Amino acid sequence: MARAPRVTTQPGRLIVLSGPSGVGKDTVLHELRKLDASLRYSVSYTTREPRLGEEDGVAYSFIDEDIFRAMAERGEFLEWAEVHGNRYGTSEARVKAALERGEDIVLKIDVQGAAWIRPRVDGAVFIFLLPPSEEELRRRLVARDTEDEASLDLRFRNAVAELADGAAYDHRVVNDDVRRAAGEILDIVRRRRAERRA
Ligand code: 5GP
Repeated sequence: MARAPRVTTQPGRLIVLSGPSGVGKDTVLHELRKLDASLRYSVSYTTREPRLGEEDGVAYSFIDEDIFRAMAERGEFLEWAEVHGNRYGTSEARVKAALERGEDIVLKIDVQGAAWIRPRVDGAVFIFLLPPSEEELRRRLVARDTEDEASLDLRFRNAVAELADGAAYDHRVVNDDVRRAAGEILDIVRRRRAERRA
């Protein structure tokens, strides 16, 4: 991971959202942004191929390995990590611009990225999304997956192992119902906003 300068979250607030694959981070985030249109989302850079329906610059900024490496070497990422064989990075410039405008900005990043940011960014809020149960997590992975049973088992075991990472986060939110979970996250964000004004 490239070295990154310290970032202050004032006057905006940095909100880090993580969770195991299949837990429903994208759906909850979509709902959250419907509930509060003022929330910004940090579009990450990635070397993975776009999935069907993913628009460049909206879901991710899709770039190749060479460009990613050059950006990392120039220190343009606040953090970056390799996840499932692809690289993902958060643009420091995009995040800083939003924070300086006083906007709250959400990063949907993996636990490695969150661990990198935790000691380096003052005042960031760390939220971990959990499934209601391991059975439900498996059901969601099956529902969105076309993979064979063996690789599904591996992904499921990995996802269950990832649940333990939630202990390091400020808040753990159960995604039992998308609207409820998004509402709980919004309450957390609003409490942080109120603390900032106080
Ligand atoms: P997907 O390829 O399914 O969209 O994302 C795979 C994983 O990469 C998810 O856990 C997602 O949160 C994580 N991820 C997406 N963008 C970033 C990023 O900029 N930095 C880090 N560290 N992880 C990211």
